[in-house]
Amino acid sequence: MAARIVHSGPRTFDIPGPHYQWPIIDDSLKEAIVAQTERSLSDRDSTGIVGEFEREFAAFVDAPHAISFSSGTSAIHAMSRIAGLGPGDAVLAPAYTFLATASPFAFEGVEVVFVDADEYGNVTAETLADQLKPNIRAVIVTHLWGNPCDMPAIAEFCREHGLLLLEDCSHAHFASRADQHVGSLADLAVYSTNQKAITTGEGGILTMSQQRYRDLALLFGHYNKRCQTEIDPAADYAPFAFTGMGLKHRLHPVAAAIGVHQLARAADIERRRRGVLDRFVTGLAGNPVISPVVVPPEQGQHGLYVTGLRYHPDNSTVSLGEFVSWCHAEGATEVDVPGSTRDISQEPLFTRRDPHAPYRVTPSPAPSGRPPRLSRFAGVQRFQDTFIKIPLWGYDGDDPMVEGYLAALTAVSTAVAA
Ligand SMILES: *Cc1c(COP(=O)(O)O)cnc(C)c1O
Repeated sequence: MAARIVHSGPRTFDIPGPHYQWPIIDDSLKEAIVAQTERSLSDRDSTGIVGEFEREFAAFVDAPHAISFSSGTSAIHAMSRIAGLGPGDAVLAPAYTFLATASPFAFEGVEVVFVDADEYGNVTAETLADQLKPNIRAVIVTHLWGNPCDMPAIAEFCREHGLLLLEDCSHAHFASRADQHVGSLADLAVYSTNQKAITTGEGGILTMSQQRYRDLALLFGHYNKRCQTEIDPAADYAPFAFTGMGLKHRLHPVAAAIGVHQLARAADIERRRRGVLDRFVTGLAGNPVISPVVVPPEQGQHGLYVTGLRYHPDNSTVSLGEFVSWCHAEGATEVDVPGSTRDISQEPLFTRRDPHAPYRVTPSPAPSGRPPRLSRFAGVQRFQDTFIKIPLWGYDGDDPMVEGYLAALTAVSTAVAA
């Protein structure tokens, strides 16, 4: 098969799958989970593990406050309401992102106005400015695959136009830009803790500097006991403490225990993942066919979600799809063209603007279910057409995997180089 086209010998490496598991389920994690089942399986306030997780997460990302949610998506939903957005308002959002960066806004009847990407897949102050119109009240950015957006420039753009700044940091737990952790310039920032670099299994967390936003986050996720004991009794929203805003999105205490366990190891996770990313950067230096997609260190630090690679079709004799199949044939089965994170701007959820009122059907929305390879955005198109990802491992003993992937990528690149 394809492997024989590359060379007639055996696969470059042959480690049975799965090649990437996260988090690592070692004895210490199992003990933390069992210990939590004995302590509490439902926290109604922040005196237990949920509060502990929030305080430690806030310290980890250098934020004044952090409030947990049952998922990143539910945290973004709360964010859309805390920001005060509703029907008639619009938010600028990346066309290229995971759907949940924007879907909760659409759920609330907020118009999502999509924005083009730069060579890292990220929005910029310029691509945001291209789509500016009068009903836009907020901007949400995603730091795609771990590369931080240019936050000083984007924050300046938001100040200039009186827009709230929201950040989806779900790919960027370890990222900084201009020596500041991502999220620090935002009014509200969200981190999914699904299988991201810091994980709770399922979960999400909002960070903010304003006390008012912290209280509102409690009202949107943690009604009753916690709101009644924690929010400012003099605030205009205090009468909502018992009911909250109607919904509950609490993080499970066992999930919080996993998060506390992972945060205690954050320095190790970072050291190991950064080491692996650096290994791909040095190992692929001079490879004409693929190169790591990593912002230069003088601009910022990568968030360590995945290893992104750019394919250079002009230096190759095969298509990106063929390259990926050849890598799989060499044993590197996690070499991947992303399917879920892609141009979401033509999805019916967004082209039919107001999902909780009667749908307004706009002409011929693109069929969903498979990645549309044609984007209306030139930058998104360029990025999507040439982007490949592989996992970013991060645990002791992963060397054979890292070296195996590097060897497979190198062998295939050599075989296909033009
Ligand atoms: C994972 C992810 C989300 C959604 O988070 P969940 O915890 O899975 O709900 C949102 N945005 C981005 C960029 C993500 O990667």
